Amino acid sequence: MKLSDYDLILFDLDGTIYNGPELIDGAKETIDFFRANNKYIVFGTNNSSKTRVQIAEKLNSLGIKCEYDEVVTSAFLAYNLAKKLKLSDVYVVGSDSLINKFSNGGIMVNQTESALNLVIGYDIMITYEKLTTAFRIAMNAHTIISCNEERNYPSNNNELFPSCGGIVKAIEWCANRKSDYVVGKPNSFMIDYLIDKYGINKKRILIVGDSTEFDVQMAKDSGTDYICIHQDNSMINYVRKISDIPNLFK
Ligand SMILES: [Mg+2]
Repeated sequence: MKLSDYDLILFDLDGTIYNGPELIDGAKETIDFFRANNKYIVFGTNNSSKTRVQIAEKLNSLGIKCEYDEVVTSAFLAYNLAKKLKLSDVYVVGSDSLINKFSNGGIMVNQTESALNLVIGYDIMITYEKLTTAFRIAMNAHTIISCNEERNYPSNNNELFPSCGGIVKAIEWCANRKSDYVVGKPNSFMIDYLIDKYGINKKRILIVGDSTEFDVQMAKDSGTDYICIHQDNSMINYVRKISDIPNLFK
């Protein structure tokens, strides 16, 4: 791998930069290495329950300097797509921050069964009542945008919890209808956004992540290069620790 081949490094967050509240060893040094070599740094996550500002604050509190516009979330991508499609009258399944992103961003939110469109994100406060409303809207919705289809995620002490995909699939199953768009990884919306925002070719983007299903798959589907942090590092472009990455370029 040659450093001069890349303009932008897209880092995954959970399991790559931090685990819950803890920074992963070597993450800061690896980011600093790329910053020192004048690469754009972007943090991309399927997390749809936190704003870009909240995630940037977390990174800064962990000692990683970051501006909010260096963060891309599936919530942000869902909002961008809804804007582009000129959606209005949207029911949002998700956290308050996801709902506020839409209502404060000039998209008419309608949290009743009469809504014409549906956005589905991770919602820790999901109830049978909300599922009922969302499923009834989904049956006749004009457009359904889902944030991501992740199955589960580990908590701070490694217990697993159902992720956004569990909510998306429940609604799709009951309504016998698929989402029209799934904006999170491994789909290419994140890469398309970066190509557009930074005005670069996809070949100049390097993805760094820990998930074969989401990070590596997104790289393969969108034609960008990747480095995967994985216990099985027998494959090319796989390393065991994030701190091993600078050595690949020496
Ligand atoms: Mg990850």
